[in-house]
Amino acid sequence: MSITRENSRIMQRDLEVIWHPCTQMKDHETLPLVPISSGKGVYLYDFEGNSYIDAVSSWWVNLFGHSNTQINDKIKAQLDTLEHVLLAGFTHTPAIDLAHKLVDITPKNLSKVFYVDNGSSAVEASLKMSYHYHLNRGKTKPIFLSLSNSYHGETIGALSVGDVKLYKETYEPLLIANMQVPVPKDQSISSADEALEALEEVLISKSSEISAFIIEPLIQGAGGMHMYHPQYLVGARELTIKYGVHLIADEIMTGFGRTGKMFACDYADISPDFMTLSKGLTGGYLPLSVVMTTDDVYNAFYCDYNEHKAFLHSHSYTGNPLACSAGLATLEIFEQNDILGENEKKSKYIKDSLEKFSKLSNIKEIRQQGMITAIELKGYKSTQRTGLKIYEYALSQGVLLRPLGDVIYFMPPYIITYEQIDEMIEVAYRGIEMVQDDIITP
Ligand SMILES: *Cc1c(COP(=O)(O)O)cnc(C)c1O
Repeated sequence: MSITRENSRIMQRDLEVIWHPCTQMKDHETLPLVPISSGKGVYLYDFEGNSYIDAVSSWWVNLFGHSNTQINDKIKAQLDTLEHVLLAGFTHTPAIDLAHKLVDITPKNLSKVFYVDNGSSAVEASLKMSYHYHLNRGKTKPIFLSLSNSYHGETIGALSVGDVKLYKETYEPLLIANMQVPVPKDQSISSADEALEALEEVLISKSSEISAFIIEPLIQGAGGMHMYHPQYLVGARELTIKYGVHLIADEIMTGFGRTGKMFACDYADISPDFMTLSKGLTGGYLPLSVVMTTDDVYNAFYCDYNEHKAFLHSHSYTGNPLACSAGLATLEIFEQNDILGENEKKSKYIKDSLEKFSKLSNIKEIRQQGMITAIELKGYKSTQRTGLKIYEYALSQGVLLRPLGDVIYFMPPYIITYEQIDEMIEVAYRGIEMVQDDIITP
């Protein structure tokens, strides 16, 4: 990407004061920041008029494009009505309407909505709720179980149930009690069965101490778009019921059609005890999250004031009306269009377009689930930062790809056109072809 004067001036002002997330700031001595002036549809624009196809939906949040007219209008109308009010002792119609819609579209036992304001906090709230539920039922169960290679956010509790070393290992002494069981190693049924055996072994010996088993259903996002078979969800639901452990489905990334169905749990027709949602919930506009749960959980807290403590967890911006109205507009778009049907055609088109990739010498595996497609490379050491090279190349060609290590993936807004898909894939192909020369390991 050429750094021109205006972009460069803005970048300097930024670097004077901003510490960016998920970034070694020294990288920006050589790697340009990309100042964005505006967005429309699948495109982001910088201050020089360069455009970038947002192939990662701005960290997996955007569903219907940037500056979407329908979502804009709904937020604007709400802005002139009520921008915010506390949700303790008070309520507002955007929160009520959105909660009803969420109860309608999520798995059948999820009947109560607890508002939070970001993904990690929803995970925190679900862990606390599960622990507290068992306590109210007379049991102390201080351990949480999760899958190897999982990611649930980066606050202390969420990090504890995650298993991506890059984020976790530094803070290990600070974390709460947690255990991991192996994730199915690929998308086959036999791998799902194998992993279920390992899960049952742990539950047999430890279930009396485990409050909940938290999983990313079907796809582990930050763990490199690792995918597994829905049979594992069926089995995990059966086993957690059998051993009296809650199942938390973290659908923060997989929710709202990403995997092809509205929720990943729908592939297995299961109803978890908790479901966490965020990211696509507001169409990628505003921070908002929810913990959905069952009557059984809700009723374990429903009692006279002095009998049990209420569930005490709150954030200043819990259930913000602007964010809820963005959520309502997002769900309206799903109601008024056959989004899942169109996505099915697009994901098939993406898959078919990737056939020529398999001839490249550095491809380990290509996998897809709905509107998430991952291309895993082989032949590199992590210190080579091959993904970063592809990121820089793609940017110079007008496509925002942000590989996870050596996994290049596409997770575009659903409104991407077939022509834009062609462009996105062609740029990725040339980037991957370019780094073939860097292969060092057999
Ligand atoms: C992004 C993500 C989170 C964390 O959400 P934040 O809003 O970034 O805190 C948790 N779980 C999963 C599966 C995610 O993809």
